[in-house]
Amino acid sequence: MLLIAYRVDRFKLDCMAIQSVYKPRVDSREQLVDRADGCVASSGPLRIRRALYTGICGNYEAERSTRERHMTRNRSGRRVGKNQTSIKSENTSTILRTIYETSDLSRADLVRLTGLTAPTISRIVSFLVEQGVVTESPGTSSGVGRKPVVLRFNGRSRYIVAIDFSWAHVRVALMDLGGGILDHTERIVDAHGPIKTEFEKVLESVQELLNRHRGIRIIGTGFSAPGLINSEAGVVISVPNFPSIRNLQVRQLLQSRFGFPTFVANDANAEAVAEKFFGQGRDTSDFVLVHLGYGIGAGIIVGGHLYTGNFGVSGEIGHTSVDRRHGKWCDCGNRGCLELYAGLRAIIEDCSAQAGRQLSFAEIEDLASQGDAGILAVLKEKGELVGYIMVNLVNTLAPQRIIFTGQVAALGAPILEPMKRVMAQRCFYHVADEVSVTVSSLSVNSSLLGAMTVVLDVFLESPYDFLTSRAGRHSAAAGTGA
Ligand SMILES: [Zn+2]
Repeated sequence: MLLIAYRVDRFKLDCMAIQSVYKPRVDSREQLVDRADGCVASSGPLRIRRALYTGICGNYEAERSTRERHMTRNRSGRRVGKNQTSIKSENTSTILRTIYETSDLSRADLVRLTGLTAPTISRIVSFLVEQGVVTESPGTSSGVGRKPVVLRFNGRSRYIVAIDFSWAHVRVALMDLGGGILDHTERIVDAHGPIKTEFEKVLESVQELLNRHRGIRIIGTGFSAPGLINSEAGVVISVPNFPSIRNLQVRQLLQSRFGFPTFVANDANAEAVAEKFFGQGRDTSDFVLVHLGYGIGAGIIVGGHLYTGNFGVSGEIGHTSVDRRHGKWCDCGNRGCLELYAGLRAIIEDCSAQAGRQLSFAEIEDLASQGDAGILAVLKEKGELVGYIMVNLVNTLAPQRIIFTGQVAALGAPILEPMKRVMAQRCFYHVADEVSVTVSSLSVNSSLLGAMTVVLDVFLESPYDFLTSRAGRHSAAAGTGA
């Protein structure tokens, strides 16, 4: 009966069905769709659910798909409408990402891969070619007829200022969109110095590079640092063992001086994005990058995107406790934090105590590779400590892959093998068997690459906005304040 009447007046009947089952009045199409959303998701009696599916779903799904085409969600998950500009922006992103990920595509390939119409593809490709972000060149002909024109992403059409700031140094590079370094500079940082003086080194380094390369087009600045970072606000809240850093307004300082859009990220998060673009995360949608260095942190990629959590603070696994009762107090307020026991500083201290003399990290590496039993025992213990936290991580997220990076991870088997053994013994069910554990193959400059890719990711998400706003037209000269 429902179906018969459905043909007569689908909307009216759907409203009646909803009202008869779920008392609230439904008198607009919008309300109907929202109510159906709730009903279908609910676990009501089978009869009701079947009726709802039979009578409403076809209607509801059609409504929803039409609506979803014209709606998107903002950061808080609220639905917001799309206007012509945002649809154009989204289509430009889809096309540019496709060209970025797969080189040598023809326009016909793009129609097939993106589902967009040929005129839309043509219009947007022309815009991207005009902007220099995409180049056209003749491809190889597969037979008779004209050679197809192939499209390529032009990494050198724009540049990014990448900044890697840490306890020991500030490295700044001008990088192209393909990850190539045009020029770079490095200055020593004193973690016990006043931040005003130390941050001045960042500003000087950027200025120096901009002076050397006037006229290049810069789309933004990426800033990567260890510690607690509010990436949404562009603020470095604190960096352990760098006491003068408290709520450092990095975005404001860099934007007001140079004028480029600025993005601030925790180093592990930035490295995770770098892995997604250039490393072992390219073919994986869900993975965790674990940085083992002075600090220990994780960058979590879910569904191909960085999971930043509330305020952009996520992945602080170095501050999970391995000795909650008697552990050392940490700057973060917790006690027994992992990085106090398995971070680089702890490894140097404990290996030195074992050897009876002060060792450098390089000496520890040598002794480990020579099979020194005392050093290997210390590293085994550290690896196991990391392993216990990895068990929690794997049980919580079940990622496809864990990629290790940082100086401690570079010690290799003496740290990683004990860690993998703990994971194999303790992970829930056989989850550990399904996780691939690897070491990053990116160079030691992965923090710098990470700072760059954080900007690149945003650029590919909204290239139209970047290219049509002032940001897309920035040249290095604009950053001189001249
Ligand atoms: Zn802590």
